[in-house]
Amino acid sequence: MRIHINDPLDKQATEKLKSVPGVELTSQHYEKDELIKLMPEIEVLIVRSATKVTAEIIEAGSKLKIIGRAGTGLDNIDVKTAEAKGIKVINTPGANSISVAELAIGLMLACSRHIARGTADLKAGKWTKKELEGHELFGRTVGIIGFGNIGKEVAKRLLAFDMTVLAYDPFVKETDMDVKIVDLDTLYKESDYITIHVPLTPETKNLINKESISKMKDGVIIINAARGGIIDEAALYEALVSGKVYAAGLDVFEIEPPTDELRQKLLSLPNVVATPHIGASTFEAQERVGMLLVDRLIKEIA
Ligand code: NAD
Repeated sequence: MRIHINDPLDKQATEKLKSVPGVELTSQHYEKDELIKLMPEIEVLIVRSATKVTAEIIEAGSKLKIIGRAGTGLDNIDVKTAEAKGIKVINTPGANSISVAELAIGLMLACSRHIARGTADLKAGKWTKKELEGHELFGRTVGIIGFGNIGKEVAKRLLAFDMTVLAYDPFVKETDMDVKIVDLDTLYKESDYITIHVPLTPETKNLINKESISKMKDGVIIINAARGGIIDEAALYEALVSGKVYAAGLDVFEIEPPTDELRQKLLSLPNVVATPHIGASTFEAQERVGMLLVDRLIKEIA
């Protein structure tokens, strides 16, 4: 069976897959046109988030049986086209949740305590102690949008910071955690911090926009370690400049890498802390994700 890994996969997981009798494994990143040329030979295609598995790529896979996504979100895979052709799509929900949750909380702390700016100032020889007064998380209210695997891991940890935790999720009506399930307007109105943990769908596209920001508390801190495109970044830029939003912690952008004019303007603001889509990029998560995906694949092809 010909399996091709198009985005980096954990080494141990790759070795395990290689050891399966009858598996012929290749591992190299190809851009769209090269990948399309290779597709007729491939039976299993493995990707992370970098490869966009479009209808064109799927259509070219005349022998394609399985698409393995090492991670959670399926927005980089045309699942409809795959399913219509009887191709299975396998992902690994939950395996990277703790890493993303920890990064989201890291961004909250960095925004609250000016950690990135403090570091940059010191490295530039500036002692800006007086400018960098921040906020505690203790006693404040966080609103979690999307109460799935990652949202719940975030809640668990923020309860230990003695925060009041609110959550909005249209598919969650109750929880046994010390978390109040609220409607979206209540979450906007009451939260000092808002952290986003929803998939990118037509309903969540630009969920955070000029109008929703206007419903938020003055001085709110917004965190997005979910997907670019859930926040209207032009509206966020305006709100960060005006001070309506105190700070934003962003791991994801509508355009990645964010080299265009709008996103460069956004990144140049002192109240933006940003990372290059590294939510799931920990050794632990990549090992967990890789091993889980390979175990699932082996079950399918055995
Ligand atoms: P999940 O499916 O367990 O949880 C998502 C939750 O969002 C679900 O409970 C769902 O009911 C809820 N939801 C759907 N539509 C909603 C809406 N309109 N409003 C509010 N809630 C809504 O997924 P997860 O594992 O918690 O991951 C969440 C997202 O995080 C993923 O879809 C992915 O986009 C993102 N993610 C980012 C990284 C990263 O590197 N930064 C890594 C992994 C996942």
